[in-house]
Amino acid sequence: MGVIVTALAVAVSAQSPRPTKKSPVTRTSSITSTAAFGTAVTANTTYRNDLTWTFGGKQQRGWYLYDLLIGKTLNTDDDPGTSDFAASIATWQKRRGLAADGILNEDALMSMVSQWQGNRLKNRAPATPDQLLTAPPADFYDSSRAEELRQVERRTYTAYKELIAAAIADPTLKLAHTAPDQLAPGETYFKIVSAFRSREYQDELRRKSPNAGSAGLAVNNSPHFTGRALDLYVGGSPVDTKDANRAIQVKTPVYRWLVNNAERFGFRPYFYEPWHWEYVK
Ligand SMILES: [Zn+2]
Repeated sequence: MGVIVTALAVAVSAQSPRPTKKSPVTRTSSITSTAAFGTAVTANTTYRNDLTWTFGGKQQRGWYLYDLLIGKTLNTDDDPGTSDFAASIATWQKRRGLAADGILNEDALMSMVSQWQGNRLKNRAPATPDQLLTAPPADFYDSSRAEELRQVERRTYTAYKELIAAAIADPTLKLAHTAPDQLAPGETYFKIVSAFRSREYQDELRRKSPNAGSAGLAVNNSPHFTGRALDLYVGGSPVDTKDANRAIQVKTPVYRWLVNNAERFGFRPYFYEPWHWEYVK
C-alpha cells in the first residue's frame, strides 16, 4: 500500500484541479491499483465462485453468497471482480495482519468469518421468564404460531419494532403496513419466523432434522435461548441453508436493507443464515 500512497501523493501534487466528472484522486487510485492488483482480480473472480472452504463441518464453495457482507466489512460498493475491490481487500488484510495481496483466498476468508463471528451476541445466558414478552401473532410469518413460540426478549422486541418502522418508512421497500410500525397481515418480509426457543424446543427441532449439522441448529448454546435472536423473513424458503435458497435471499432488497441498516438498531447478522439477526446491545 505504501506504493499507492506515494503514487497518489505525486499524482495529486502534479495535477492542478480540472473540471472533470471524477476527481483526479479517484482516477489515479483506479489506475494505480489496476497495475498492482491484476493477479488479485483474476484470483478473486475465480475464488468468488469456486474457493473450497469448510464451515460448520460442511464443505463450502465460493464466497458469492457473502458479497454484501464483504462489501459492508470493507466499506466498499465495488464489484468483487475489480481492482478497487482487491485494493480494499488489501487494506483490510493489512489491518488483520495478513499478507496484503488483495486476494480473498481461504486464509483471508476465514479471517473475515472470524471477524463476523466475533461481532455476534456474546452473552448467551438463557432468557429468564421476566426478560421475555409475548409478541402479537401479527408480527409473525406464521400468524397461527403458538403463544409459547412467540416470546421475545423485551429490549430486542422494542428494537425490532423500531427497525420495522424504519423499514416501513423506506419507500423503496414498498412494505404493506397498517400502522407506522406494523406490517400488514398479507406482508411477509421482515416478519418474525422464529424468536425465543427453549432448550427443550431446540432439542425437538434437532430430532426432527438430524442432518442439519452444527451450522444449522446450534447444539449447545443457541442464541435463540436468549430471546435476542430473531429469524426474519428475507425471501425464499424462510430458514433453508441450501446455497440455491440463500442465493435468492441475499439478492432481496430486504436483505440488502438489513445489511445496511440493522446495526443502527443493534442487530448484527449471522453471516451463514441471511434470516438470522442478533440484538447485541
Ligand atoms: Zn436463527
